[in-house]
Amino acid sequence: MSRTPSIAFIGLGIMGLPMAANLVKAGYTVTAYDLSPESVEKLAAQGGKAADSIAEAVKGAGIVITMVPDSPDVEAVLLGEDGVFANAASGALIVDMSTIRPDIARLVSEEGAKRGLRVLDAPVSGGEAGAIEAKLSIMVGGNTADFEEAKPVFEVLGTTPVLVGPSGAGQTVKAANQLIVAGNIQLVAEALVFLEAHGVDTEAGLEVLNGGLAGSTVMTRKGDAMRARQFQPGFRIALHDKDMKIVTTAAREAGVAIPLGAHVAQYVGALKAQGHGGLDHSALLKIVEQLSGEERK
Ligand code: NAD
Repeated sequence: MSRTPSIAFIGLGIMGLPMAANLVKAGYTVTAYDLSPESVEKLAAQGGKAADSIAEAVKGAGIVITMVPDSPDVEAVLLGEDGVFANAASGALIVDMSTIRPDIARLVSEEGAKRGLRVLDAPVSGGEAGAIEAKLSIMVGGNTADFEEAKPVFEVLGTTPVLVGPSGAGQTVKAANQLIVAGNIQLVAEALVFLEAHGVDTEAGLEVLNGGLAGSTVMTRKGDAMRARQFQPGFRIALHDKDMKIVTTAAREAGVAIPLGAHVAQYVGALKAQGHGGLDHSALLKIVEQLSGEERK
Protein backbone atom coordinates (compact mmCIF):
# COMPACT_ATOMS: atom_id res chain seq x y z
CA MET A 1 0.00 0.00 0.00
CA SER A 2 1.29 3.50 -0.84
CA ARG A 3 2.10 5.88 1.98
CA THR A 4 -1.09 7.83 1.39
CA PRO A 5 -3.78 5.39 0.23
CA SER A 6 -6.75 6.91 -1.51
CA ILE A 7 -9.74 7.05 0.79
CA ALA A 8 -13.45 6.59 0.13
CA PHE A 9 -15.62 8.37 2.70
CA ILE A 10 -19.30 7.50 3.04
CA GLY A 11 -21.58 9.60 5.27
CA LEU A 12 -20.90 13.33 5.40
CA GLY A 13 -23.10 14.47 8.29
CA ILE A 14 -22.26 16.54 11.35
CA MET A 15 -19.22 14.34 12.00
CA GLY A 16 -18.30 12.90 8.61
CA LEU A 17 -17.99 16.17 6.69
CA PRO A 18 -15.36 17.79 8.95
CA MET A 19 -13.53 14.45 9.31
CA ALA A 20 -13.34 14.01 5.53
CA ALA A 21 -12.27 17.66 5.17
CA ASN A 22 -9.41 17.10 7.63
CA LEU A 23 -8.21 14.12 5.57
CA VAL A 24 -8.25 16.29 2.43
CA LYS A 25 -6.25 18.98 4.29
CA ALA A 26 -3.72 16.31 5.32
CA GLY A 27 -3.09 15.50 1.65
CA TYR A 28 -5.23 12.39 1.15
CA THR A 29 -7.29 11.91 -1.98
CA VAL A 30 -10.81 11.55 -0.57
CA THR A 31 -13.72 10.46 -2.75
CA ALA A 32 -17.00 10.89 -0.93
CA TYR A 33 -20.60 9.78 -1.16
CA ASP A 34 -23.66 10.71 0.90
CA LEU A 35 -27.39 10.33 0.30
CA SER A 36 -27.44 14.14 0.37
CA PRO A 37 -25.76 15.56 -2.77
CA GLU A 38 -25.44 18.95 -0.99
CA SER A 39 -23.13 17.39 1.59
CA VAL A 40 -20.99 15.85 -1.16
CA GLU A 41 -20.78 19.27 -2.83
CA LYS A 42 -19.65 20.83 0.45
CA LEU A 43 -16.70 18.42 0.60
CA ALA A 44 -15.92 18.92 -3.09
CA ALA A 45 -15.73 22.68 -2.39
CA GLN A 46 -12.99 21.87 0.13
CA GLY A 47 -10.95 19.75 -2.28
CA GLY A 48 -12.62 16.34 -2.00
CA LYS A 49 -13.86 14.32 -4.98
CA ALA A 50 -17.61 13.85 -5.42
CA ALA A 51 -19.10 10.43 -6.15
CA ASP A 52 -22.69 9.69 -7.21
CA SER A 53 -22.76 6.21 -5.70
CA ILE A 54 -21.01 3.96 -3.22
CA ALA A 55 -19.56 1.98 -6.14
CA GLU A 56 -17.99 5.11 -7.61
CA ALA A 57 -16.64 6.24 -4.24
CA VAL A 58 -14.91 2.97 -3.32
CA LYS A 59 -13.43 2.22 -6.77
CA GLY A 60 -9.68 1.83 -6.26
CA ALA A 61 -9.75 3.03 -2.64
CA GLY A 62 -7.25 1.47 -0.25
CA ILE A 63 -9.26 2.56 2.77
CA VAL A 64 -13.05 2.95 2.98
CA ILE A 65 -14.43 4.96 5.92
CA THR A 66 -18.13 4.89 6.82
CA MET A 67 -19.77 7.43 9.17
CA VAL A 68 -23.54 6.88 9.04
CA PRO A 69 -26.16 7.04 11.82
CA ASP A 70 -27.14 3.54 12.96
CA SER A 71 -26.63 -0.24 12.65
CA PRO A 72 -29.15 -0.72 9.78
CA ASP A 73 -27.43 2.11 7.86
CA VAL A 74 -24.03 0.41 8.24
CA GLU A 75 -25.52 -2.91 7.13
CA ALA A 76 -27.10 -1.23 4.09
CA VAL A 77 -23.92 0.63 3.14
CA LEU A 78 -21.55 -2.32 3.63
CA LEU A 79 -23.67 -5.37 2.80
CA GLY A 80 -26.21 -3.82 0.39
CA GLU A 81 -26.51 -5.11 -3.15
CA ASP A 82 -24.46 -2.28 -4.63
CA GLY A 83 -22.70 -1.50 -1.37
CA VAL A 84 -19.10 -1.32 -0.22
CA PHE A 85 -18.42 -5.07 0.00
CA ALA A 86 -19.77 -5.63 -3.50
CA ASN A 87 -17.50 -2.97 -4.95
CA ALA A 88 -14.36 -2.57 -2.83
CA ALA A 89 -11.00 -3.68 -4.19
CA SER A 90 -9.86 -7.00 -2.76
CA GLY A 91 -7.72 -6.41 0.32
CA ALA A 92 -9.19 -2.97 1.01
CA LEU A 93 -9.39 -1.89 4.64
CA ILE A 94 -12.91 -0.91 5.72
CA VAL A 95 -13.11 1.35 8.76
CA ASP A 96 -16.59 1.86 10.20
CA MET A 97 -16.50 4.92 12.46
CA SER A 98 -20.26 5.04 13.09
CA THR A 99 -21.58 4.12 16.54
CA ILE A 100 -23.45 0.82 16.18
CA ARG A 101 -24.24 -2.43 18.00
CA PRO A 102 -21.12 -4.49 18.84
CA ASP A 103 -22.76 -7.65 17.44
CA ILE A 104 -23.36 -5.94 14.08
CA ALA A 105 -19.73 -4.78 14.06
CA ARG A 106 -18.66 -8.41 14.50
CA LEU A 107 -21.10 -9.57 11.82
CA VAL A 108 -19.88 -7.12 9.17
CA SER A 109 -16.28 -8.00 10.00
CA GLU A 110 -17.04 -11.70 9.44
CA GLU A 111 -18.92 -10.96 6.22
CA GLY A 112 -16.03 -8.79 5.02
CA ALA A 113 -13.49 -11.53 5.74
CA LYS A 114 -15.50 -13.94 3.54
CA ARG A 115 -14.91 -11.49 0.67
CA GLY A 116 -11.22 -10.88 1.35
CA LEU A 117 -11.89 -7.53 3.03
CA ARG A 118 -10.60 -6.41 6.41
CA VAL A 119 -12.93 -4.47 8.71
CA LEU A 120 -12.20 -2.35 11.78
CA ASP A 121 -14.83 -0.87 14.08
CA ALA A 122 -13.55 2.57 15.07
CA PRO A 123 -16.24 4.68 16.73
CA VAL A 124 -15.25 8.11 18.00
CA SER A 125 -15.87 10.45 20.88
CA GLY A 126 -15.36 14.20 20.99
CA GLY A 127 -18.45 15.48 19.22
CA GLU A 128 -18.70 17.95 16.36
CA ALA A 129 -16.00 20.18 17.90
CA GLY A 130 -13.65 17.18 18.19
CA ALA A 131 -14.30 16.31 14.53
CA ILE A 132 -13.63 19.88 13.36
CA GLU A 133 -10.54 20.32 15.54
CA ALA A 134 -9.23 16.80 14.73
CA LYS A 135 -9.23 15.91 18.42
CA LEU A 136 -11.38 12.80 18.34
CA SER A 137 -10.83 9.91 20.68
CA ILE A 138 -10.94 6.76 18.52
CA MET A 139 -11.67 3.34 20.05
CA VAL A 140 -10.76 0.56 17.69
CA GLY A 141 -11.76 -3.09 17.48
CA GLY A 142 -9.88 -5.44 15.14
CA ASN A 143 -6.41 -6.89 14.70
CA THR A 144 -3.08 -5.17 15.31
CA ALA A 145 -1.83 -5.17 11.69
CA ASP A 146 -5.02 -3.53 10.40
CA PHE A 147 -4.95 -1.01 13.26
CA GLU A 148 -1.33 -0.08 12.45
CA GLU A 149 -2.25 0.36 8.79
CA ALA A 150 -5.12 2.71 9.65
CA LYS A 151 -3.21 4.57 12.36
CA PRO A 152 -1.84 7.40 10.17
CA VAL A 153 -5.43 8.13 9.11
CA PHE A 154 -6.65 8.02 12.71
CA GLU A 155 -3.87 10.40 13.69
CA VAL A 156 -5.21 12.96 11.20
CA LEU A 157 -8.71 12.68 12.69
CA GLY A 158 -7.92 12.56 16.37
CA THR A 159 -5.44 12.55 19.18
CA THR A 160 -6.18 9.25 20.89
CA PRO A 161 -6.53 6.20 18.62
CA VAL A 162 -6.40 3.09 20.81
CA LEU A 163 -6.79 -0.56 19.80
CA VAL A 164 -9.05 -1.86 22.58
CA GLY A 165 -9.53 -5.47 21.47
CA PRO A 166 -10.87 -7.70 18.70
CA SER A 167 -13.71 -6.91 16.34
CA GLY A 168 -16.67 -5.32 18.20
CA ALA A 169 -14.56 -4.19 21.17
CA GLY A 170 -14.38 -0.63 19.85
CA GLN A 171 -18.19 -0.48 19.86
CA THR A 172 -18.36 -1.93 23.37
CA VAL A 173 -16.01 0.78 24.66
CA LYS A 174 -18.04 3.39 22.79
CA ALA A 175 -21.21 2.12 24.51
CA ALA A 176 -19.48 2.72 27.86
CA ASN A 177 -18.52 6.19 26.63
CA GLN A 178 -22.14 7.03 25.84
CA LEU A 179 -23.24 5.77 29.26
CA ILE A 180 -20.78 8.12 30.98
CA VAL A 181 -21.60 11.10 28.74
CA ALA A 182 -25.38 10.79 29.24
CA GLY A 183 -24.99 10.46 33.00
CA ASN A 184 -22.62 13.41 33.10
CA ILE A 185 -24.97 15.65 31.10
CA GLN A 186 -27.87 14.66 33.34
CA LEU A 187 -25.97 15.62 36.50
CA VAL A 188 -24.66 18.90 35.02
CA ALA A 189 -28.28 19.71 34.09
CA GLU A 190 -29.48 18.90 37.62
CA ALA A 191 -26.70 21.04 39.13
CA LEU A 192 -27.57 23.94 36.85
CA VAL A 193 -31.29 23.90 37.68
CA PHE A 194 -30.40 23.54 41.37
CA LEU A 195 -28.00 26.52 41.27
CA GLU A 196 -30.52 28.68 39.41
CA ALA A 197 -33.22 27.88 41.95
CA HIS A 198 -30.89 29.27 44.62
CA GLY A 199 -30.20 32.42 42.58
CA VAL A 200 -26.51 31.59 42.16
CA ASP A 201 -24.51 33.18 39.30
CA THR A 202 -24.22 30.01 37.19
CA GLU A 203 -21.37 31.32 35.02
CA ALA A 204 -19.19 31.71 38.10
CA GLY A 205 -20.61 28.55 39.62
CA LEU A 206 -19.81 26.34 36.64
CA GLU A 207 -16.37 27.94 36.26
CA VAL A 208 -15.30 26.97 39.75
CA LEU A 209 -16.96 23.55 39.60
CA ASN A 210 -15.14 22.83 36.35
CA GLY A 211 -11.77 23.48 38.04
CA GLY A 212 -12.31 20.73 40.62
CA LEU A 213 -13.20 17.06 40.73
CA ALA A 214 -16.68 17.82 39.36
CA GLY A 215 -15.19 19.29 36.18
CA SER A 216 -15.75 17.54 32.84
CA THR A 217 -15.49 17.91 29.09
CA VAL A 218 -19.30 18.03 29.07
CA MET A 219 -19.18 21.09 31.32
CA THR A 220 -16.44 22.72 29.24
CA ARG A 221 -18.10 22.07 25.89
CA LYS A 222 -21.78 22.40 26.78
CA GLY A 223 -22.07 24.42 29.99
CA ASP A 224 -22.58 27.84 28.38
CA ALA A 225 -25.09 26.53 25.81
CA MET A 226 -27.02 24.79 28.58
CA ARG A 227 -27.11 28.00 30.62
CA ALA A 228 -28.47 29.80 27.52
CA ARG A 229 -30.90 26.95 26.67
CA GLN A 230 -29.34 26.61 23.22
CA PHE A 231 -29.90 23.04 22.17
CA GLN A 232 -29.05 22.94 18.47
CA PRO A 233 -26.98 19.78 17.75
CA GLY A 234 -24.08 18.77 18.18
CA PHE A 235 -25.19 15.29 19.02
CA ARG A 236 -28.85 14.58 18.46
CA ILE A 237 -31.07 13.10 21.17
CA ALA A 238 -32.25 10.53 18.59
CA LEU A 239 -28.67 9.26 18.23
CA HIS A 240 -28.08 9.16 21.97
CA ASP A 241 -31.35 7.26 22.37
CA LYS A 242 -29.94 4.69 19.91
CA ASP A 243 -26.75 4.51 21.99
CA MET A 244 -28.59 4.12 25.31
CA LYS A 245 -30.48 1.19 23.78
CA ILE A 246 -27.14 -0.32 22.74
CA VAL A 247 -25.59 0.00 26.20
CA THR A 248 -28.64 -1.09 28.21
CA THR A 249 -29.11 -4.13 25.95
CA ALA A 250 -25.41 -5.05 26.03
CA ALA A 251 -25.37 -4.71 29.84
CA ARG A 252 -28.34 -7.04 30.20
CA GLU A 253 -26.75 -9.52 27.82
CA ALA A 254 -23.62 -9.49 29.98
CA GLY A 255 -25.69 -9.83 33.16
CA VAL A 256 -24.43 -6.60 34.74
CA ALA A 257 -26.51 -3.85 36.33
CA ILE A 258 -26.22 -0.24 35.15
CA PRO A 259 -29.04 1.27 37.23
CA LEU A 260 -28.16 4.95 36.81
CA GLY A 261 -27.56 4.46 33.11
CA ALA A 262 -30.90 2.70 32.72
CA HIS A 263 -32.56 5.63 34.50
CA VAL A 264 -30.95 8.25 32.24
CA ALA A 265 -31.87 6.10 29.22
CA GLN A 266 -35.53 6.61 30.20
CA TYR A 267 -35.06 10.41 30.20
CA VAL A 268 -33.33 10.33 26.80
CA GLY A 269 -36.18 8.17 25.47
CA ALA A 270 -38.79 10.51 26.97
CA LEU A 271 -37.23 13.53 25.27
CA LYS A 272 -37.31 11.72 21.95
CA ALA A 273 -40.95 10.70 22.54
CA GLN A 274 -41.78 14.35 23.21
CA GLY A 275 -40.55 15.21 19.70
CA HIS A 276 -37.14 16.52 20.75
CA GLY A 277 -35.07 13.91 18.89
CA GLY A 278 -33.46 16.64 16.78
CA LEU A 279 -32.15 18.63 19.76
CA ASP A 280 -28.67 18.29 21.23
CA HIS A 281 -28.35 15.73 24.05
CA SER A 282 -27.74 18.61 26.47
CA ALA A 283 -31.54 19.12 26.16
CA LEU A 284 -31.75 16.58 29.03
CA LEU A 285 -31.94 19.87 30.94
CA LYS A 286 -35.54 20.19 29.70
CA ILE A 287 -36.46 17.00 31.55
CA VAL A 288 -34.96 18.31 34.80
CA GLU A 289 -36.93 21.53 34.38
CA GLN A 290 -40.15 19.64 33.65
CA LEU A 291 -39.68 17.48 36.75
CA SER A 292 -39.00 20.65 38.76
CA GLY A 293 -42.12 22.36 37.40
CA GLU A 294 -40.21 25.20 35.85
CA GLU A 295 -39.67 24.62 32.14
CA ARG A 296 -38.80 27.81 30.32
CA LYS A 297 -40.57 28.71 27.11
P1 NAD B 1 -25.71 12.76 10.87
O1 NAD B 1 -27.10 12.29 10.88
O2 NAD B 1 -25.39 14.22 10.98
O3 NAD B 1 -24.95 12.22 9.54
C1 NAD B 1 -25.11 10.96 8.99
C2 NAD B 1 -24.90 11.08 7.48
O4 NAD B 1 -24.98 9.78 6.92
C3 NAD B 1 -25.96 11.95 6.80
O5 NAD B 1 -25.33 12.95 6.01
C4 NAD B 1 -26.74 10.93 5.94
O6 NAD B 1 -27.22 11.48 4.74
C5 NAD B 1 -25.66 9.88 5.69
N1 NAD B 1 -26.22 8.58 5.33
C6 NAD B 1 -27.16 7.85 5.99
N2 NAD B 1 -27.41 6.69 5.34
C7 NAD B 1 -26.59 6.69 4.26
C8 NAD B 1 -26.40 5.79 3.19
N3 NAD B 1 -27.10 4.65 3.11
N4 NAD B 1 -25.49 6.11 2.23
C9 NAD B 1 -24.79 7.26 2.30
N5 NAD B 1 -24.93 8.18 3.28
C10 NAD B 1 -25.83 7.89 4.25
O7 NAD B 1 -24.98 11.95 12.04
P2 NAD B 1 -23.62 12.32 12.80
O8 NAD B 1 -23.94 13.17 13.98
O9 NAD B 1 -22.58 12.75 11.81
O10 NAD B 1 -23.26 10.87 13.40
C11 NAD B 1 -22.73 9.82 12.58
C12 NAD B 1 -22.33 8.68 13.50
O11 NAD B 1 -21.33 9.13 14.43
C13 NAD B 1 -23.49 8.12 14.36
O12 NAD B 1 -23.36 6.75 14.50
C14 NAD B 1 -23.29 8.84 15.69
O13 NAD B 1 -23.83 8.10 16.78
C15 NAD B 1 -21.78 8.94 15.76
N6 NAD B 1 -21.24 10.05 16.55
C16 NAD B 1 -21.79 11.30 16.47
C17 NAD B 1 -21.25 12.32 17.26
C18 NAD B 1 -21.82 13.73 17.24
O14 NAD B 1 -21.48 14.52 18.15
N7 NAD B 1 -22.64 14.10 16.28
C19 NAD B 1 -20.17 12.08 18.10
C20 NAD B 1 -19.61 10.80 18.11
C21 NAD B 1 -20.16 9.79 17.35
